[in-house]
Amino acid sequence: MKTAEIARRYLDYFEKRGHTIVPSASLVSDDPALLFTVAGMVPFIPYLSGDVPAPYKRAADNQKCIRTNDIEEVGKTPRHGTFFQMLGNWSFGDYFKKDAIRYAWELLTTPDDDGGLGFDPKDLWVTVYEEDDEAIQLWLEHSSLPEERIQRLGKDTNYWTTGLPGPAGPCSEIFFDRGPEYGVDGGPATDDDRYVEIWNLVFMQYEITNVRSKYEFDIIGDLPAQNIDTGMGLERVAFIKQGVDNMYETDQVRPVLDKAVELSGKRYGENHDDDVRFRVVADHIRSSLMLLSDGVTPANDGRGYILRRLMRRAIRSMRLLGVEGPTFAELFAVSRDAMKESYPVVETDYARLSQYALAEEATFLRTLASGSEILDTSIESAKSTQSTALSGSQAFLLHDTYGFPIDLTLEIAEEAGLTVDRAGFDTLMKEQRDRAKADARSRKRQLADTSVYRDFRALGETVFTGYTDLETESRIL
Ligand code: ATP
Ligand code: MG
Ligand code: MG
Ligand code: MG
Repeated sequence: MKTAEIARRYLDYFEKRGHTIVPSASLVSDDPALLFTVAGMVPFIPYLSGDVPAPYKRAADNQKCIRTNDIEEVGKTPRHGTFFQMLGNWSFGDYFKKDAIRYAWELLTTPDDDGGLGFDPKDLWVTVYEEDDEAIQLWLEHSSLPEERIQRLGKDTNYWTTGLPGPAGPCSEIFFDRGPEYGVDGGPATDDDRYVEIWNLVFMQYEITNVRSKYEFDIIGDLPAQNIDTGMGLERVAFIKQGVDNMYETDQVRPVLDKAVELSGKRYGENHDDDVRFRVVADHIRSSLMLLSDGVTPANDGRGYILRRLMRRAIRSMRLLGVEGPTFAELFAVSRDAMKESYPVVETDYARLSQYALAEEATFLRTLASGSEILDTSIESAKSTQSTALSGSQAFLLHDTYGFPIDLTLEIAEEAGLTVDRAGFDTLMKEQRDRAKADARSRKRQLADTSVYRDFRALGETVFTGYTDLETESRIL
């Protein structure tokens, strides 16, 4: 079942049950303190908080999301993309826990032929907040789940609060069991590789006060209007339904991966590190395409910096896969073709989008080339003084001034028979990071937090530390 077809079925199902279908909001969130739309909830915050009356009682959508905090997981877990689509159904003071559970179960387990998503009930597990006996009861009544496949978990995973007085409530999450090849048999509480979270149901139920920490507070009572907020990962359902190993192998992403494989002359599935790199390329190219199509352009700070970072990580990954020349013309075109059915704008606006992508690639390739020249000079002078190592400050200068990644410095130095004073480099990096953190802290203080939904910011928050991300990159790639 194609990704777009899964989304269609989801929206059809909820439309038939009285939900207004709401188009995806932009990846660029309206909230100035939030860089990107990190979850389906973001565009509905004014309705959920009660600040603005919702124009409908029930809604459903397929929201484009970017989560930069998942960047390090990309390619290593099967389930984390920097860009992904979150399907959601919403009740604004209308139906509550029983129907949210009933709908989710019915849609997931209705056979493919009858318009459902065709999951075998035996493969599904759920978690509920440990004190939410009502949710357990409802799952037992409205699904065929045996009690053993309903696990109680604590507030850290199964409770939603904002960390401030206001709305809060328990969650219930639905997981797919990938089978014993993927891990031990203890349910989602024990293993998130074998048990993949596909859908999160949030029951916004209580009003809380006297908040001592995110998970310590007093409940005043029920909210006057109880809301339902759900989020289903479209790519996660797609990779399960398509019988592939991970989200980067689904129909909207795999073509980019295949193109990267072709350009590299290597094979996919032979070497773990290379496979991670192929998946990173596929993910980051798609995220970049989608960010560009929502009007983000490369820059040295803010949203544009995230875009720049994604594109540069893709370039670095291709280089580590052995490709030194430009690849974006081909990779972006393939990503466009894979995404245009769902997002026609990537085709109609392609001339503009690809111009930015190609210019960014050319600049970074030049940076890498000039860094290489400077590095060569350093190597020559080290050799002429009989030194066997490059100093930490030389490596840091290359990194800081020329954006030249440390792993590349290490690689090239090693080829020349030299070592690099890594400890000296790390010390300088740490000093720079500490400075950047101090800057970020003062930036945060400036953005006085007025929204009750500040918790969400953590999902999109990255500290902008210039090129230090490339150091992280060298650890993960
Ligand atoms: P996980 O624990 O697997 O990281 P999560 O609890 O952070 O997921 P939620 O915030 O509950 O995810 O988001 C709702 C749904 O969106 C998840 O159940 C999942 O299906 C999907 N989702 C979340 N993050 C990603 C991502 N980075 N890539 C793809 N899908 C995602
Ligand atoms: Mg997560
Ligand atoms: Mg989770
Ligand atoms: Mg979750």
